[in-house]
Amino acid sequence: MPDRRTAVVTGASSGIGAATARRLAAEGFAVVLTARRAERIEKLAAELPDAEAYPLDVTDRAAVNAFADHLRSTRPSVEVLVNNAGGALGTDPVAHADPSDWRAMYEVNVLGVLNMTQALLPALTASGDGTVVVLSSTAGHGTYEGGGGYVAAKHGAHVIAETLRLELCGEPVRVLEIAPGMVQTEEFALTRFRGDQERAAKVYQGVAQPLTAEDVADTVGWAVTRPSHVNIDLLVVRPRAQASNTKVHREG
Ligand code: NAP
Repeated sequence: MPDRRTAVVTGASSGIGAATARRLAAEGFAVVLTARRAERIEKLAAELPDAEAYPLDVTDRAAVNAFADHLRSTRPSVEVLVNNAGGALGTDPVAHADPSDWRAMYEVNVLGVLNMTQALLPALTASGDGTVVVLSSTAGHGTYEGGGGYVAAKHGAHVIAETLRLELCGEPVRVLEIAPGMVQTEEFALTRFRGDQERAAKVYQGVAQPLTAEDVADTVGWAVTRPSHVNIDLLVVRPRAQASNTKVHREG
């Protein structure tokens, strides 16, 4: 039997990343799960048929380079990189936002993608059929009040995908961007509101069916399994109850 194709997923300890790791495993990939919380990725990796957990902070350039070395010495090839690690901090207006929140969001959502993509691009190219996925957001395509720092960072992630696709044209590497709207995951809103359960719950209050992590993982699984010559440049996916970043139908 030929070796399985390898997919690396960042932020695989929770939400969309964990669901994507499961989905790519179901598609037959050997999956390398990365995130900062080792125990969570180790537990999930143990449930999957051919998976490895590698604790990693995507903002730590030296650690990311060491991870790329590890892959080079342990795997015949790497075919897919899913840049999913990211998130939002706060909803402060531009007039009052804390620059350290903006810096942290830029670090993970933009420089994290840059670090991982630069480190793995040689392996993805050498595979002869590589795919880079950038999990941006509808916040990368339009703004909303209180979204400033996150919106700025996700616009940065979107620009990486667009620019990289231009720069890699002619190379055997696709660049896909998945931009979800409202997804109800365990931790996204909780992280944004620094553990405040009540504020986090309000994000989804009255919304009939926000997207689930599995809905987004389904789009990633579909996009990366298209024939090699088919590049899904950008997929915007929202729940039916959300028509734009600022137009959400809430019941009750
Ligand atoms: P989540 O449940 O909060 O998961 C975020 C993941 O990122 C966690 O696994 C976390 O793991 C990891 N992470 C955070 N900082 C990291 C770092 N420095 N290094 C490595 N891993 C890091 O959020 P989610 O809802 O699944 O979101 C996943 C992605 O989709 C994010 O990029 C988010 O911005 C984007 N997105 C989310 C939504 C939404 O409504 N939920 C909508 C559009 C886009 P550790 O803490 O273990 O490191």
